[in-house]
Amino acid sequence: MKQIKLKGKDIFDGTRLLGPDKVLILSPDGTVADIVTTAAANGDIQELDGILCPGFVNTHCHLELSHMKGVIAENTGLPAFLTQVMQLRNQPVDDYDALINQAEQAMWEAGVSAVGDICNNTTTLEKKQQGKMYYHSFVECMGVADAGAASRYQYSMEVLKAFRDINNSHHQCSIVPHAPYSVSPTLFRLLAATPHNTPLSIHNQETAAENELYQQKTGDFLQFYAHFGMDSSGIQPTHTNSLEAYLPYFSHNRMLLVHNTFTSIADIQFAQQQPLETWWCLCPNANMYIENRLPNIPLLRAQQCLITLGTDSLASNHHLSIWEEIKTIQQHFPEIPLEEILQWATFNGAKFLGIQDTYGSFHTGAKPGVILINQDSKRII
Ligand SMILES: [Zn+2]
Repeated sequence: MKQIKLKGKDIFDGTRLLGPDKVLILSPDGTVADIVTTAAANGDIQELDGILCPGFVNTHCHLELSHMKGVIAENTGLPAFLTQVMQLRNQPVDDYDALINQAEQAMWEAGVSAVGDICNNTTTLEKKQQGKMYYHSFVECMGVADAGAASRYQYSMEVLKAFRDINNSHHQCSIVPHAPYSVSPTLFRLLAATPHNTPLSIHNQETAAENELYQQKTGDFLQFYAHFGMDSSGIQPTHTNSLEAYLPYFSHNRMLLVHNTFTSIADIQFAQQQPLETWWCLCPNANMYIENRLPNIPLLRAQQCLITLGTDSLASNHHLSIWEEIKTIQQHFPEIPLEEILQWATFNGAKFLGIQDTYGSFHTGAKPGVILINQDSKRII
């Protein structure tokens, strides 16, 4: 069978840009065979206008919210945004499955090969059975009232069981807490005690109101609880930021902290002293959509945080495109080398999800998909 030989303006291999004189050689099924010099490739090379890059890994998405594109106003702040999502997410739509298909197809064409996908129910299960791309389903559990913790946990474990039934080389899953403001102490303990459950993910410090809640139990979340009649008596102020209050529930696991828009240097240093491995997921377009603010990315870099990228959902983003996230980071932080951001978007995401043998790099034997980046990103293989 004939090998595929691709040459771009440059090749990014998952961690480094290799320069212009390299050719990526793949077997006909897309498995990486080698990267060699142009001379050693021995002809029959397809020349492409852009950077060749392994398929992106989107570590934070909510495919099940794909019917909410353009539904919620921008810049409302997180508590008001969540109120809208909770009120509108169950409104009937014409063809829910078609919207999920469309969202996945657009993500695929823009170069995403693997996704860490949040699930509150089984609506994306059928899509994931098809195995077009790799999914890790993070079955999300929430419940503010301590008294309801056991039943909330049981419901989410049922959802997890359904997803576990489809586990294969294209799918894995775990049960995870939604966010510090939506999970009671008892529920945190139940989640942390779940066996064979890795990696984990949580929405972290996405709004200033979350830290305020833990510092002194005041602020916008109290109105949010009142609006939905939630009993928040189990959430007591710890006089710390949220991260310091909940992270110690978890040990010897791998945790993706998503958003980190209001994370301080003290929070980062606290996280790094914990026994669990922490990864930091940036979703800049969703942060701009909801809070009109970005996380302190230079601080995360300076503290040598392990960074990945995510898109969040179409409820808080105009695209599910990792390249669009990269463009936003470059616009606001032009000093960050593209090579470094591309590693967040590929190898780091794969390593966090535990799929680095197949995804996120062009090492021999991997099958990460190939994308071409110039003004935009486009899937080649
Ligand atoms: Zn999210």
